[in-house]
Amino acid sequence: MIKFLDIQKITELYSSEIRSAASRVIDSGWYLLGDEVSAFEEEYANYIGASHCVGVANGLDALRIILRSYIELGVMNEGDEIIVPANTFIASIIAITDNRLVPVFVEPDIYTFQIDDKKIEAALTSKTKGVMIVHLYGQCAYTENIGQICKKHNLKLIEDNAQAVGCRFNNQVTGSIGDAAGHSFYPGKNLGALGDGGAITTNDTSLAKTVRTLANYGSKVKYNFEYQGYNSRLDEIQAAFLRVKLKGLNKDNERRKEVAKFYINNITHPEVILPNVNDWDAHVFHLFIIRSSRRDILLKHLTENGVQALIHYPVPPHKQKAYIYMNNMVYPITEKIHNEVISLPISQVISNEEASIVVEVINKFSKN
Ligand SMILES: *Cc1c(COP(=O)(O)O)cnc(C)c1O
Repeated sequence: MIKFLDIQKITELYSSEIRSAASRVIDSGWYLLGDEVSAFEEEYANYIGASHCVGVANGLDALRIILRSYIELGVMNEGDEIIVPANTFIASIIAITDNRLVPVFVEPDIYTFQIDDKKIEAALTSKTKGVMIVHLYGQCAYTENIGQICKKHNLKLIEDNAQAVGCRFNNQVTGSIGDAAGHSFYPGKNLGALGDGGAITTNDTSLAKTVRTLANYGSKVKYNFEYQGYNSRLDEIQAAFLRVKLKGLNKDNERRKEVAKFYINNITHPEVILPNVNDWDAHVFHLFIIRSSRRDILLKHLTENGVQALIHYPVPPHKQKAYIYMNNMVYPITEKIHNEVISLPISQVISNEEASIVVEVINKFSKN
């Protein structure tokens, strides 16, 4: 069976350095808010090209705390609207609704899966305060048009960079383009910890101060609480692991692109729609997504032939039970995507042989 994602193998790539990082932290006797987190924050800020980085517990908290900070800073208020793609992972939406802000969905482009920037302006109201772009599947969602819309209407641009660590737009790394960005180091992400982790990056000094305070119980000075904050910290041991893996990130992402190129050049089945890549710098292939109108049969075919494939995601946020009050909304492009997508195995540890088998299995799928 070709695994969708072999995390054990990924960890093995870094095995000796990860083990020595673990020993270093274990022996230090200091497990939270110490030198490893500070060093990682500096290295990660440098990598992204942002002035500030604040480590937090996970990617959801990163997004949630950015929005909460804008509320505490008086930039946003309860009931204000945030533009967000309709086809994102649920965390983008929870971060908005948990702050009593209102997500306003915009349909994606069916070929790139990214928010359709031509549809953003029509979704703006007097309550719109921000646009959350999601670099979905590892591809840059930012366009100059989005930047101009945010400037013109005085909107905060927030990047959900959970899936796209290392992705570039012209000379910038995603996570440094908007006003603030949330990053996830969930083990399966391109820069994965060995547990949960996340970060916020921004060039806005007052925002950086507020998120750091909020993430630490709302406290800057010990036992003085300015806000009803969160306990959202990146562990020292995870920061130490991330420092190791950050050094290999570009190489790991290059390997993902090689596999993606191989798939794009060799999958020839007429009923399989391949992902659209205009700019190879602007995609780090967190996921490799194909579409087929016979998705469920193709998925069964893959499984039966030893290829583990998944669906990201089977049900869009507005059709989830958690958002029952949205269930009657209709987003046809989003719904079509959710009905047709399959994620093929992709990672820095897939071998050429495995990639060839994936291609062969797809190409021999019966034709309709
Ligand atoms: C993974 C993910 C998150 C949340 O990250 P966690 O670390 O799992 O909390 C947010 N947004 C998107 C698009 C994601 O894929």
